[in-house]
Amino acid sequence: VSTWSHIPAGPPDPILGVTEAFKADTSAKKINLGVGAYRDENGKPYVLPSVQKAEQILTGKKLDKEYLPITGLAEFTREAVKLAYGVDSVPLKENRIAVTQSISGTGALRVGGAFIARHYPHENRKIIYIPKPSWGNHTPVFRDSGLEVRGYRYFNKATVGLDFAGLKEDLRAAPERSIVLLHACAHNPTGVDPTPEQWKEISDIVQEKQLFPFFDMAYQGFASGSTSRDAFAVRYFVEQGHQIALAQSFAKNMGLYGERVGAFSLVTADPAERARVDSQIKIVVRPMYSNPPLHGAHIAATILSNPDIYAQWEQEVKGMAERIISMRDKLYNALTHDLGTPGKWDHIKSQIGMFRQVVPAISFTGLTADQTKALAEKAHVYMTADGRISMAGLNNSNIGYFAESVHKAVK
Ligand code: PLP
Repeated sequence: VSTWSHIPAGPPDPILGVTEAFKADTSAKKINLGVGAYRDENGKPYVLPSVQKAEQILTGKKLDKEYLPITGLAEFTREAVKLAYGVDSVPLKENRIAVTQSISGTGALRVGGAFIARHYPHENRKIIYIPKPSWGNHTPVFRDSGLEVRGYRYFNKATVGLDFAGLKEDLRAAPERSIVLLHACAHNPTGVDPTPEQWKEISDIVQEKQLFPFFDMAYQGFASGSTSRDAFAVRYFVEQGHQIALAQSFAKNMGLYGERVGAFSLVTADPAERARVDSQIKIVVRPMYSNPPLHGAHIAATILSNPDIYAQWEQEVKGMAERIISMRDKLYNALTHDLGTPGKWDHIKSQIGMFRQVVPAISFTGLTADQTKALAEKAHVYMTADGRISMAGLNNSNIGYFAESVHKAVK
């Protein structure tokens, strides 16, 4: 008998399962709104021209393939923290931000989770509060890191907006010094972000309750089209003196998904403390994967450190964000004005970033999870079971058909 005969089959990944079903569908009309990756106007994966330029420069340099240090490429991590914290950031200028390159955003969260599980000084407070709902991988990442995962209210189904009262109540009720995970911008999966005023109130509660803020910034630039505007929450918290943890991903804003480029950083008190923290981050990383991959870090470092390519990249990020925003407007207009679809659709325009939640609005009119499935089977429109759609999967050629399919499903 096999050593592994007792192993039960695990559940399929809810997102990757959608892609499999999409691939198997032979209809020419099919639309995949499940993937969390940007698509261009033709529905194709998009390699940013700034990335291509950086790659040309790198090819010309004929770099070797030696290992990177444990915490990655220094030119990259230096630029990554500058992008997140801002060039005027005080802890940055004072050289007290500990940072390591990571296996994209997921790896940053995982290294951060493991570091906190090992070193967070408040033994009975290794509890991380994540929003309800949150990115599906947050719970397993932090649980596997050794933290206890709990939720705070975030999404109000009735308004398809932020449940700010619930959020505040839950953070105030959390045990002092708990860890709180905050999506820095373009909340996934709801597309609902706090306003700057609401961020200020959240910062005050974090202060009052001495919570430890851990920011996940996977979409810097995707929310507003501006990388600095999208860093508002992170920079505001740092200005307020919070010692934050930060996970950054360059998957979306540079389109470097499979290159796995990210960074994990922590604000410390002074350069000596930073050096000690750095040394312990290395001890967390070394047995996990030894050191991070080379190529993507070189691409990101080249873009971020070359003023011309950087300016071009900022424009390309803006272009991606604007295409998503224009799809929101078109979808809103198609449903409300052209088709007169029952229900309220204002949230389509007010939500932010690549994702928006369609289920709450649809469920107003009685569409069940089974009917979402029917949308896939009858209309060849694929989305995750929670009703999240990736706006980037829409374009001028398929948006009319999508709106009609939603209209039929809702009626
Ligand atoms: N955090 C959030 C909220 C995300 O949506 C994602 C990706 O979808 C990630 C982190 C991590 O992505 P990656 O590991 O590809 O950078």
